[in-house]
Amino acid sequence: MLVGPVQIRYGPHMTDTDIKATRPTDRAPKVGIVSLGCPKALVDSERIISHLRAEGYELSGDYADADLVLVNTCGFLDSARDESLEAIGEAMAENGKVIVTGCLGAEPDVIMKQHPGVLAVTGPHQYEQVMEAVHAHLPPQHEPFMDLVPPEGLRLTPRHYAYLKISEGCNNRCSFCIIPHLRGDLVSRPLAHVMHEAERLVNAGVKELLVISQDTSAYGVDLKYAESQWKDRSWRTKFYDLCSALGELDAWVRLHYVYPYPHVDEVIPLMAEGKILPYLDIPFQHASPKVLKAMRRPGNQVELTERIAKWREICPDLAIRSTFIVGFPGETEEDFEMLLDWLQEAKIDRAGCFRYEDVAGAPSHDLPDHVPEEVKDERWHRFMQTQTQLMQTRGETLVGRTLPVIIDEVSDGGVIGRTQADAPEVDGLVVLPADTPTRPGEIITARVLSAEGSDLVAEAL
Ligand code: SF4
Repeated sequence: MLVGPVQIRYGPHMTDTDIKATRPTDRAPKVGIVSLGCPKALVDSERIISHLRAEGYELSGDYADADLVLVNTCGFLDSARDESLEAIGEAMAENGKVIVTGCLGAEPDVIMKQHPGVLAVTGPHQYEQVMEAVHAHLPPQHEPFMDLVPPEGLRLTPRHYAYLKISEGCNNRCSFCIIPHLRGDLVSRPLAHVMHEAERLVNAGVKELLVISQDTSAYGVDLKYAESQWKDRSWRTKFYDLCSALGELDAWVRLHYVYPYPHVDEVIPLMAEGKILPYLDIPFQHASPKVLKAMRRPGNQVELTERIAKWREICPDLAIRSTFIVGFPGETEEDFEMLLDWLQEAKIDRAGCFRYEDVAGAPSHDLPDHVPEEVKDERWHRFMQTQTQLMQTRGETLVGRTLPVIIDEVSDGGVIGRTQADAPEVDGLVVLPADTPTRPGEIITARVLSAEGSDLVAEAL
């Protein structure tokens, strides 16, 4: 369905008066949109124009008046493909700056062959990629006195740290997990898009970036590691390049949810050089090969122990955080003891533990030999005892050392911070005297005085 050449569909509840009232200044960049195809494509167009308006772009209903035209295409039938290609040609002829998205965008070769001057092509539902292309060719003009949303977006975390989501979905199929079923396969954000967001956050005062996804080390596989431009350089959308690019920012960079693929080894030198934090959050889930096999996860813990030892040779301060599941179907006492032994052998620095939950729809639901709740409970407590002991031992090795500490809270009751080995909410804390002259977000140098469980007591230098 042709909504109309460069015709904008506003939401049904919005009158012309509303539109004028929310229209930004005359200096705002203007985007026109041609929306073709089914109602799903129309909803996509509505989402795109909502994003554009939220960022201060004005919508134009006229080719000549628009600074750039977006064509949301349809590729369902041959006739729809022809209509889409024709609409792109018209926008090229009438305006010349054209970005193509939608179903036909899944075949960029077809579009570029017929219309080589098109600025960018993105596929269906790729809102972020569309916005990325618009930003690259028509940067937003933020009006600090007019904008309701600051350039770095609205966040729920304290001002000095932020989560940076690099992808959605997951290509793995762990038997206890329904995330791939709920969120689909891996969809990575192009590196330049992630880096622009990271830069905006750092410019807004963020001192620590926490990289998150379902599977951080698989980043870019779905995009075949496509290159994108950031800071006049071409970067692959790939785990190593991402770590390396983030390492150029003036912020702590912490990696979460890393799956232990072999190429994880490549980023350890970046940690040793101080580019990114010497911290890896790898949810190992278990250590018994039999249980790992039932979980459909990599199961060579001997090899892993050797790899971890090599990582520590390269980067002695490396802290490894992990999560584990106890009471998985079929887990025997022997399997569980193997897990406790491995925790100590591999010297896992921070470990979270979950009792297995029988999620409906997960393949593990159908496995035999489910573990009784009281056994799960008993194993959970034994796990936590071992991990507390490990944390205490690690803390004691730090007594007397001077470490950088990022400050999270300053109150009459005391000052709370974290070392590079501690992520917010899940790891340990550093407790400093209440009269320490500092403020949240500041990175100070502190000497460790004592270790108390997972926490450290320290004084500022
Ligand atoms: S547990 Fe993590 S790696 Fe495994 S399928 Fe779920 S999201 Fe993917």
